[in-house]
Amino acid sequence: MLHERLEAVYDNVLRRNAGEIEFHQAVREVLESIGPVLGKHPEYAEQKIIERIFEPERQIIFRVPWEDDRGEVHINRGFRVEFNSALGPYKGGLRFHPSVYLGIVKFLAVEQIFKNSLTGLPIGAGKGGADFDPKGRSDREVMRFCQSFMTELYRHLGEHTDVPAGDIGVGGREIGYLFGQYKRITNRYESGVITGKGLTYGGAQVRTEATGYGCAFFVEEMLKARGTSFDGRRVVVSGSGNVAVYAIEKVSELGGVVVACSDSSGYVVDEKGIDLDLLKQVKEVERRRLSVYADRRGAGAAYVAGRSVWEVPCEVALPSATQNEITGKDAEALVRGGCVAVGEGANMPTMPEGIRVFREAGVAFGPGKAANAGGVATSALEMQQNASRDSWSFEFSERRLQEIMSDIHARCLETADTYGMPGDYVAGANIDGFRRVADAMLALGLI
Ligand code: GLU
Repeated sequence: MLHERLEAVYDNVLRRNAGEIEFHQAVREVLESIGPVLGKHPEYAEQKIIERIFEPERQIIFRVPWEDDRGEVHINRGFRVEFNSALGPYKGGLRFHPSVYLGIVKFLAVEQIFKNSLTGLPIGAGKGGADFDPKGRSDREVMRFCQSFMTELYRHLGEHTDVPAGDIGVGGREIGYLFGQYKRITNRYESGVITGKGLTYGGAQVRTEATGYGCAFFVEEMLKARGTSFDGRRVVVSGSGNVAVYAIEKVSELGGVVVACSDSSGYVVDEKGIDLDLLKQVKEVERRRLSVYADRRGAGAAYVAGRSVWEVPCEVALPSATQNEITGKDAEALVRGGCVAVGEGANMPTMPEGIRVFREAGVAFGPGKAANAGGVATSALEMQQNASRDSWSFEFSERRLQEIMSDIHARCLETADTYGMPGDYVAGANIDGFRRVADAMLALGLI
């Protein structure tokens, strides 16, 4: 149920952004949380902050032509949505995946507004990407694609303007090619223009690990708030990309046992606990499918094709693959299997019905805006190091990440309490994230 005024805002978003269903879903979730704020702060309504915040400042759509190894020409579509710059330069990743279209980029960008705000760091919000599928492409093809993509995008970027990073399909290799092309076109070694860089050319320690580690730290805080911990708990992580791998690493260090992870074709269950070295070898070094992990691991591990990883019973679930991967039915199965905590490593992996199921069952539910904010927070630390031409140690960087996650956790709980929804991390994250941006927008005049 929405507050009457918010219902009108939502109708308007539907009308002006026809067919962009993921964007509608992300907007609705925020609107459902911020009703109580309006009563306390009439100035937001007077200045139409809510209407303004859901209209992107700028949307860029461009052609990306490139040539494959056989000389065939391909055309992809590139996007960058510069959503909100009240708190700092637009900040958010690039996603290369065949499913990418404006609605996906806008949902990711709008999430980024509240997530980035919640970190407490000076970063605005944006997101971009292309409907390019890097799977099965050679290094040279990926390089040519990245160079063509940046040849258009560079004019919109800058360390004080818009600072991309990675997301699905964009990792260290792609960031290197993108940065190289930016440097070549502009003739500037502008390290702070992109984050997630390699350690030899301005990258920051812990950035690679940050989203997964941060998610594990956040869930550790949720468990602590309930008087418990990861120790000896059965954990299921979906996905097997960058977020999943480092969530598995940190959860294992914190004493949890990760018994399953997945890819787009199925999942692997490994009752002794996922062998992280083997997983990294298969996924990061060889870039092969997860079924290869089960083949090599031998007895005890099995690959289950074509089924959902959420049928594996666990006490803690960390959805770290992609949006809308936990349905209402999956959530019910998780609750039946004894799940007590969920931390979203991915962006919007739980469907609204799933969130409802978790809420009703009293499961501690950490939404992506809070639980996966460690990635972008560490990007902000990378920008800070680039600006001061410094580089911090792994230990110091990890400590900063842990402090940031613990602050976010505390602020979510405190805000949820203040607005009469104790323990509701969704409300806490949305309201706290919203208020900081809204106040900045008010202070900056009609922007
Ligand atoms: N794509 C990541 C996210 O969803 C990271 C963005 C960044 O580091 O700028 O938050």
